[in-house]
Amino acid sequence: MDLPHRRFDALIIGAGGGGLRAALQLSQAEARVAVVSKVFPTRSHTVAAQGGVNAALANVLPDNWHWHMFDTVKGSDYLGDQDAIEYMCRAAPHVVYELEHFGVPFSRLDDGNIYQRAFGGQSRNFGGEQAARTCAAADRTGHAILHSLYQQNIRAKTHFFDEYFAIDLLHDEQGYFLGALVLEIATGKPLIIEAKTTLLATGGAGQLFRTNTNALINTGDGMAMALRAGIPLQDMEFFQFHPTGIAGKGMLITEGARGEGGYLLNGEGERFMERYAPNAKDLASRDVVSRAIATEVREGRGCGRNKDHVLLKLDHLGTDIVAKRLPGIRETVKTFLNLDPAESPIPVYPTAHYTMGGIPTDRYGRVVVPEMQGAEEPVPGLYAAGECACVSVHGANRLGGNSLLDILVFGRAAANHIIEHLRETRYHRPLPESATDQALARLARWEQKGEGESVDELRKALTRIMEDHCGVFRNEEVMRAGQEKLVALQERLQRARIKDHSQVFNTARIEALELENLMDIALATVSSALARQESRGAHSRIDYPERDDTHWLRHSLYYKEAMRMDYKPVRIKPMTVDSFPPKARTY
Ligand SMILES: Cc1cc2nc3c(=O)[nH]c(=O)nc-3n(C[C@H](O)[C@H](O)[C@H](O)COP(=O)(O)OP(=O)(O)OC[C@H]3O[C@@H](n4cnc5c(N)ncnc54)[C@H](O)[C@@H]3O)c2cc1C
Repeated sequence: MDLPHRRFDALIIGAGGGGLRAALQLSQAEARVAVVSKVFPTRSHTVAAQGGVNAALANVLPDNWHWHMFDTVKGSDYLGDQDAIEYMCRAAPHVVYELEHFGVPFSRLDDGNIYQRAFGGQSRNFGGEQAARTCAAADRTGHAILHSLYQQNIRAKTHFFDEYFAIDLLHDEQGYFLGALVLEIATGKPLIIEAKTTLLATGGAGQLFRTNTNALINTGDGMAMALRAGIPLQDMEFFQFHPTGIAGKGMLITEGARGEGGYLLNGEGERFMERYAPNAKDLASRDVVSRAIATEVREGRGCGRNKDHVLLKLDHLGTDIVAKRLPGIRETVKTFLNLDPAESPIPVYPTAHYTMGGIPTDRYGRVVVPEMQGAEEPVPGLYAAGECACVSVHGANRLGGNSLLDILVFGRAAANHIIEHLRETRYHRPLPESATDQALARLARWEQKGEGESVDELRKALTRIMEDHCGVFRNEEVMRAGQEKLVALQERLQRARIKDHSQVFNTARIEALELENLMDIALATVSSALARQESRGAHSRIDYPERDDTHWLRHSLYYKEAMRMDYKPVRIKPMTVDSFPPKARTY
């Protein structure tokens, strides 16, 4: 089949903060860069980030990167790789000042410095008093960052393919990655984008769960593309549930609300976090707070007629603070609950939020896979950064404010490595004719229309299974049943069809391709969670309630082929400082 072709030095799939930060670095180095995004770039999920980005600037309270590193390692429940965490925490002030220079309108202190708020899991002096490390532009930090990065990319002449959907990666028989097959959504026409390097920056997979904080587009496409190309996914059992989603609806109420002094109450009017985390209280790390809320509700101390949520109280802060520091969430709560949080408390419950696992990379953004004798090898031509990647700085639990940091630091690091690689790579490798077979077969499969199961119904069933069988608390029996249901659902997916009447809408085909991606990620998540027989960070097993460092201080790797699991060691050794050995984690 003769397909239209475009050629670039670098292809970036995804135009969120990770993709755009990388693209800017590359365009400024005069590489020819293509950025593909299935939505207009500034609609990527980064735009929704509220609370802020962490960097030890010490503008409000004393701070340094070493404390930030300690908090991140502890937050990760010791599963994070300490070399990558050191790299990220040291780079943080620099990337925040860069953002300031790109034009991000950070909130300011009276002395003109960048405003920083307290967030969960932040401490001074290696576990001491609360720190204030999160740089914020009110509660619309992601919006400010994404728009500034987009404008800088326009200035740097990055080439955008807006509203193009990447179907699959292209590689040759030697395993070199050579670009991707993409679909122009408006016309349904496929296009080959050839590149010397490909960077996946496709974001997370929050749409796995029925109640979540994520954009509808967060379907884990890049992770699924990697799986289909034979690359494993790392640590997929670790999915973050944010403690404060609007109950029953899922929209996020930023941790910044608690950072500004808000706190949680149960049905008896008790500040229950004092029992679970006597020091950090409402600003313990997210896994701890989510479990506490779920436990209060399970034990009958919830609020409301059905006792199925708790309350987040902000009204004592005063209208001024709510209006100045939390205008976005005030608007959200007014819109969805017809309540003013400056006057009445907000009903909240944990909601699916963030994919800690993802495509395994090193701290240069190179995708790495295990080789013989346990060594790791970079996959030639393939990079990943942002929420779709697992570098791993978040380990078993991410700290709030560390993801915006992750996408910026590693988007930039990946671009820097790509620039080096391009210096040595003058020519494109030839693209074999067969490279597009798999992607074209997937497209053709969704051209068959007619009677069959509905894609929409199957997607709903999938998110319900994930919520019921792989939520905040897990056990063998419930997850095993979930895995069986997913396998059955995958068979039903083979019989699904796009209905005839939707033929004019290409979006129906996109939704079908997204569901295939979600299906692969759901199986990766449940299978990895079933295999890990311990509780660590966000992975909380009733049947194995303790952390077990003897057997499980290691990263898991899930392969699509035969749903096989493998493991690799955690990198405990940082680059320049002493390591933080695992110890009991209390807040
Ligand atoms: C509501 C909310 C609030 C948050 N608040 C904070 C916060 O305050 N601080 C913090 O640190 N973190 C926060 N996070 C997390 C953080 O925002 C995200 O982890 C981060 O922005 C992800 O960035 P990304 O660049 O990896 O991906 P995204 O911003 O999700 O972008 C993904 C990109 O990939 C593209 N894409 C995906 N699949 C395809 C495909 N098949 N073809 C073409 N393009 C594709 C999309 O179009 C999009 O451009 C928040 C998350 C949410 C959901």
